[in-house]
Amino acid sequence: MLVDFHSHTTASDGLLSPEELVLRAVERRVDVLAITDHDTTAALAPARQFIAEQDLPITLMNGIEISSAWENHEIHVVGLRFDADNEALQAFITAQGERREARALEMGRRLAKNRIEGAYEGAKALADGGAITRAHFARFLVNQGVAANFQAVFKKYLSRGNTGYVPHNWPDLKAAIDVIHQAGGVAILAHPGHYKLTNKWLKRLFQSFKAAGGDGVEVANSQQSPQIRINLGQWAKEAQLKASQGSDFHLISAWCDLGRNLYLPKDAEPIWQDWQELSVKRDLAESSQLPQQ
Ligand code: AMP
Ligand code: MN
Ligand code: MN
Ligand code: MN
Repeated sequence: MLVDFHSHTTASDGLLSPEELVLRAVERRVDVLAITDHDTTAALAPARQFIAEQDLPITLMNGIEISSAWENHEIHVVGLRFDADNEALQAFITAQGERREARALEMGRRLAKNRIEGAYEGAKALADGGAITRAHFARFLVNQGVAANFQAVFKKYLSRGNTGYVPHNWPDLKAAIDVIHQAGGVAILAHPGHYKLTNKWLKRLFQSFKAAGGDGVEVANSQQSPQIRINLGQWAKEAQLKASQGSDFHLISAWCDLGRNLYLPKDAEPIWQDWQELSVKRDLAESSQLPQQ
């Protein structure tokens, strides 16, 4: 059973619509997909409707990726399997949207002071009604020829200490975990390898995440060395956190795809192990692996 619990659509900074994403996941033989857009659940209903209409062989898990703050770092928390209609969660999402909007406006002002005009409007147009992110600014700036590519734009303009960087104002890690729990979901520490933390600090983050009530850690990503996967699995175990996996798919590229390179270390405890709604799929997947008599 192939599980991918981290992906994005045009509801935030992904390039595929919810329908296109689901189709690609089916092509890629993903059995269970979570759509985890930045601070929004807007893609879930259209994706679910499309799967039902087309009778597609895939299970959709409710998901979200919440931006939060821990020790002055921006930490992403993936929420899974929650009630998307939960009022506390939707109020939280509305507040996150307001923070995103305020930050985007300020980014636009800072860039304009540095003679880069129209960045807010440009990013807003690319977001097309979805959650606005730094990725939209990056795409706009690359389109304008301000920088050669995505990485260069982040390095030069959008990461901490640069012209277009606005200090974040996210709720703290525990608030993100709490609201996911309030909505009945589980909270997963997203892509631990992306925070530029030393091993010592990463272990500390795992312990803090557990202490704040967190449930699991993304042990497997699409772009990851075997040793990092082993380390993350080990530290998750030590912190008594379960293991999750996700591609963090945003767009079709040579190095990331839905379901790609997703497997857990042998002794990991998958977060989805006891999820009853997946047991039928699990049995089917196992029986289809038996040799033909
Ligand atoms: P935001 O949540 O608005 O801070 O935007 C974060 C998004 O920007 C991430 O989810 C990535 O898609 C993208 N991003 C952040 N940092 C980088 C980076 N250094 N290189 C490429 N993309 C990045
Ligand atoms: Mn993103
Ligand atoms: Mn993230
Ligand atoms: Mn993501």
